[in-house]
Amino acid sequence: MKPYISVVIPSYNEAKSLLPLYRELTPVLKEIRREYEIIFVNDGSRDKTQEVLESLHRQDKKHIRVIQFRNNFGKAAALTAGFKLAKGEVVIQMDADLQDNPIEIPKFLCKLNEGFDMVVGWKQKRKDSFVKNQSSKVFNFATNYISKVKLHDHNCGFKAYKLEVVKGLNIYGELHRYIPVIVSAQGYNVTEIKVSHRPRTFGKSKYSNLRFIHGFLDLLTVFFITRFRSRPLHLFGYLGMAFFLAGFCIATYLTYIKLFIHQSIGGRSLLQLAVMLMIIGVQISVVGLVGEQITTMMHKDNKEYVVKKILK
Ligand code: UDP
Ligand code: MG
Repeated sequence: MKPYISVVIPSYNEAKSLLPLYRELTPVLKEIRREYEIIFVNDGSRDKTQEVLESLHRQDKKHIRVIQFRNNFGKAAALTAGFKLAKGEVVIQMDADLQDNPIEIPKFLCKLNEGFDMVVGWKQKRKDSFVKNQSSKVFNFATNYISKVKLHDHNCGFKAYKLEVVKGLNIYGELHRYIPVIVSAQGYNVTEIKVSHRPRTFGKSKYSNLRFIHGFLDLLTVFFITRFRSRPLHLFGYLGMAFFLAGFCIATYLTYIKLFIHQSIGGRSLLQLAVMLMIIGVQISVVGLVGEQITTMMHKDNKEYVVKKILK
């Protein structure tokens, strides 16, 4: 039977958490009294994740699906594969590490029923390291500043979608952090609800404290993908043109001096500046053109992950 709810769980080296998660999740889903499926995506784990998932699948074939990747392709790829398989009218995304509490799922469903297309969790009392909590604040502030969706916790691992939304999503690399931005840019209604959060019990976080540095790069990415994602030339073209024009104006001024005031300009550092600005301008524009070509190609041939096995 076609499920009403699909729960998608990206799992990377989470062997110890999976059985407790399954035991916690199942009664919550049964309580809702609709058909459901749980899709685990094993993102190339190197621990016993696959064994645990296969044994869960043997126990509960009706509800469990397992996608095994050949390698670790990242959370965005894992989500994409899970979303592709999902059949439920409603799709829930949650982390495998027991930090998200399944008890919140009915609240997500209620919010979707109010007419929203996507509901993002907000870990109001976040149970992670100091560095992570602080860098996340900066990240959310910057994301809110740049994009049109105002949320407290863009990158919360706990989210709910209408099926249509995930089917139209094309994320790769680390873009899972910007799903709300991307979805809202497509014209869907995005909202948030508060969710409880728990410290990690088993295993360790897959994202190091380098987040701080990543945070800055992420900021550029958000800016880029919200404004110029499919039009890199628009960003680079503007910049390139600004540089070129500045150089051109200086060069014009120098030409005037040379031709009409009859002074020599060969020894002026201003001349070097003009030449440099014009060359940089052209270079930047060309980078934009190359970016355009890459974007076009990527849309054609999008193979971000390799599946080894699917248990349905
Ligand atoms: N994850 C994944 N692939 C990766 C990294 C993480 O599927 O390459 C999963 C991980 O198993 C977990 C979720 O993504 O279910 C969030 O990861 P983690 O708990 O390490 O992130 P944090 O809570 O520290 O932000
Ligand atoms: Mg976690």
